[in-house]
Amino acid sequence: MNRWHSDYHSPHRALSFEVTRSLYTEKSEYQEIEILETPEFGKVMLLDGVLMVTEKDEFVYHEMLAHPALFTHPKPARVLIIGGGDCGTLSRVLMHKGVDKLVQVELDEMVTRVSREYFPALTAACEDPLVELIFGDGIKYLRETQAKFDVILIDSTDPVGPAEGLFRRPFFADCKRVLNDDGILCLQSESPWIEDLRPVISEVNRDLHSLFPIVRAYSAAIQTYQAGFWLFQIASLAYDPCDQAVYERITEAGLKCSYYHANLHFSSFVLPAFVEKLLN
Ligand code: SAM
Repeated sequence: MNRWHSDYHSPHRALSFEVTRSLYTEKSEYQEIEILETPEFGKVMLLDGVLMVTEKDEFVYHEMLAHPALFTHPKPARVLIIGGGDCGTLSRVLMHKGVDKLVQVELDEMVTRVSREYFPALTAACEDPLVELIFGDGIKYLRETQAKFDVILIDSTDPVGPAEGLFRRPFFADCKRVLNDDGILCLQSESPWIEDLRPVISEVNRDLHSLFPIVRAYSAAIQTYQAGFWLFQIASLAYDPCDQAVYERITEAGLKCSYYHANLHFSSFVLPAFVEKLLN
């Protein structure tokens, strides 16, 4: 009889799935990294027991974090990713031919090392010469860098431990300083179904509004993430993600995606009333 893993979304609810084999477990300086083999989702990565990546549905989150911002900006050349150690977001950014520099600042080198072994389809993109992998704290990097970027994507774990500061105003202010005058910041913003996370979603939205002229939230249906309904927030210094020009750029590019497309881009910004209430 195979064992089952429960990914707790709150003390009273979890997503449980059958496990056929544990392929890897190691504690890094920052977190426990596990790779499990499962009949339902293929190989999955857990960080401190929380589901991060699955072979079966990783495309949803990574396409929805990368493409909306990269099509909202008319010429995204320099892109920064904070977190993203599995390289799923990085591999989607490289689908945009105008990108000529991609820097990824991931706290935990072991996450990328383990992903190279178990998710090579995602990490293959790291070999591209325009990619620069930096292993360190994204908060410190943004505070200290003199580099400038067109798009910054925050692909972090939940707002606890070393990721907590990635959901705070001082960090967003540093992102704004590092962005070019028409830059865009986009971040994963948790699930509005999880009560404890609702204040975080509202505070992030409030803080982004205090720094950026255009702030919008959008959603994606991610069956393996908390409560299957995930939010992202995009903060832009110049371009509106819901402009008609974005529609043209998406259709013109004709990217081969498994979740994202032009109509979905626009419909993802239409949110349920209870979520709208969380946003300013
Ligand atoms: N897709 C996942 C999700 O939505 O939960 C996140 C993917 S990725 C594995 C998250 C990464 O954020 C982890 O590898 C973690 O090490 C990294 N991380 C957490 N805090 C960080 C920080 N302060 N600076 C840079 N990376 C950080």
